[in-house]
Amino acid sequence: MGTLDDLIGYLDDSRSPWHAAGSTAAALLTAGFEPLALGDDWTELPAAGFVASGASVVAFRTAGVDGAGAAPFRIVGAHTDSPCLRIKPRPDVGQLGWKQLAVEVYGGVLLNSWLDRDLGIAGRVVLRDGSVADVTIDDAVCRIPQLAIHLDRDVNDKGLVLDKQQHLTPVWGSGTARQGEFREWLAAQIEVAAGDVAWWELCLFDRTPASVLGADSSLLAAGRLDNQLSCWAATDAIATSAAAADHHQVIALFDHEEVGSESTTGAAGPLLEQVLERMSLARGASRSAHLAALARSACLSADNAHAVHPNYPERHEPGHRPIVNQGPALKINSNQRYATSAGTAASFQRACEAAGVPWQVFVSRNNMPCGSTIGPITATRLGIDTVDVGIPQLSMHSARELCGVDDPIHLAAAATAWLAGA
Ligand code: ZN
Repeated sequence: MGTLDDLIGYLDDSRSPWHAAGSTAAALLTAGFEPLALGDDWTELPAAGFVASGASVVAFRTAGVDGAGAAPFRIVGAHTDSPCLRIKPRPDVGQLGWKQLAVEVYGGVLLNSWLDRDLGIAGRVVLRDGSVADVTIDDAVCRIPQLAIHLDRDVNDKGLVLDKQQHLTPVWGSGTARQGEFREWLAAQIEVAAGDVAWWELCLFDRTPASVLGADSSLLAAGRLDNQLSCWAATDAIATSAAAADHHQVIALFDHEEVGSESTTGAAGPLLEQVLERMSLARGASRSAHLAALARSACLSADNAHAVHPNYPERHEPGHRPIVNQGPALKINSNQRYATSAGTAASFQRACEAAGVPWQVFVSRNNMPCGSTIGPITATRLGIDTVDVGIPQLSMHSARELCGVDDPIHLAAAATAWLAGA
């Protein structure tokens, strides 16, 4: 079972969604999972395998019984992406003695949280020949400076208003901006010729490492807790599980949840559906048997929940307020913003009881719109009964979020029991 130190290492390594997929792939390789390619015909399944596609990963342990044909699936889902700022294709801008980088807002960023942080750059570059180079620049490269209070006298009373186009452009040097400068600098960083850098997908990230917080060391502060924490728990669960006799164990870590999941590698895309069908076909099952197996399958969708905030307790529904370090919360919404049903909630409760971990329940206020997640999307797409859960956290979508140190361990234990079929 994974430890808090394992989680901290995972978070620090996972500076971008591609890095998160890489962190999971590395853990799976260490645990003996075989990489498979989507472009190959899967005629034979390894006992444990995974496919990586963009910043998404699907991994599985096949049912232990030989010739099981279409065994049902126990699935744990999460998402690798987090709201952030991304570097535009033609980023060289600036004026009045400042060199700046044009950025695009990815997802529902809590904008103010990105101010006055020393930012690194991570993601990937596609070279002219089509090859892909990972980019990990941990140096303090850029920063979005907040306006001084002397020049914004009302900010503390009226609140900070940031225009996404005008106020979020980071500085990355002084002098006069020059077209092509970022490309040349980036090429030098990854040790290729500037002419070889074709296109990039690059995120800014806060360089501050994840850290345990509190006089009692009971809290964890880090970027991207939503939802790399759940990715870590899912990865840990399948990496340390024993194969089950009568069902396949699967984890599905999707990209693009923060922007609606509609992509080839998002939860609304075909990735998981195709992997599951190919698993059945590779074991000689008919399509009808595969569909019957789906009907007997179940999915645990893990995405962080909102802990009740001590300074804003009125924002929660009084009877359904997740408390930090009291276990993962069942997320329930009868309007189907969450996929949890009474039946799947009972399944998750059994998994928690089998794992010996606490659980709690979240329902949003009737006058507060409820977020959504990959659960309803996978449930709709695959027709698999799904439960939405998440560990409680504060500051969701901030550059630096906060949760308890016990809850990630609880989630990993519950996910392990779920995969085991508890
Ligand atoms: Zn999330």
